[in-house]
Amino acid sequence: MRELRGTRAKKRRMRRRIIRQLFWRSMVSLLGILILLMTWNLTSCALRYFSKEEAPAEDITENMEKEEGEEDAIPALASAAEILLVNKDHPLPDHYQPNLERMREYGAEVDASILQPLRDMLAAGEKEGLSFWIASSYRSVERQRELLDEDINTLVKQGYSYSEAYEEVTKETMPVGCSEHASGLAVDIVSKDYQILDEKQARTDEILWLQENCSEYGFILRYPKEKEEITKVSYESWHFRYVGTTAAREITEQGLTLEEYLDI
Ligand SMILES: [Zn+2]
Repeated sequence: MRELRGTRAKKRRMRRRIIRQLFWRSMVSLLGILILLMTWNLTSCALRYFSKEEAPAEDITENMEKEEGEEDAIPALASAAEILLVNKDHPLPDHYQPNLERMREYGAEVDASILQPLRDMLAAGEKEGLSFWIASSYRSVERQRELLDEDINTLVKQGYSYSEAYEEVTKETMPVGCSEHASGLAVDIVSKDYQILDEKQARTDEILWLQENCSEYGFILRYPKEKEEITKVSYESWHFRYVGTTAAREITEQGLTLEEYLDI
């Protein structure tokens, strides 16, 4: 009996030991799994962190490449389609409003897009000893209407009929809404020493220099001599219009008007 009891007690002890061993083994395995999981998490976090840091660098270079490409592809006023045509048959769109900038040194207002080229052109001429004055720059549609009415009334007082006076005046002064001056892209430049807008202006050193060099700065002589049939405006040696350097060079080299260049 004693022996039997002793073997039973032994068996119970062995079972407990086995259970204890199983318990600890499973605990160790669980711990191992936990450690593995934590390591995996840490590694993936670290991988995500570093890949994030690298990703924007790639994006930036891609964007930079795109921006550079876009700048090359679309320089300001590069194609004829981008050049605004304003004449008697093509008035400015209603409510057109240029982005005006003031040139204090000349008391002028122009569209921001022509400010720098205009300054560069005048500075280059002044370096050659010339002296310019901007006789007219941006002019609102309302101001254009006033000018037109003033000129028409003067002729009417001289005996012209209204329609005769209108026809005569619009040879040089554009109808309301049809003046390039309302676009802010055109300027009347004269010699500072001779500011009258007449035939003699064309013979001043300033105008001779401008007509020779304006295309280098993106400007054209808008109403050339012997092109009145096309522009429907008398020769104005002083009226310069910005179209960008590409168009200005082509127009000047080929002796075209803006209407001919745009094929309108
Ligand atoms: Zn003008």
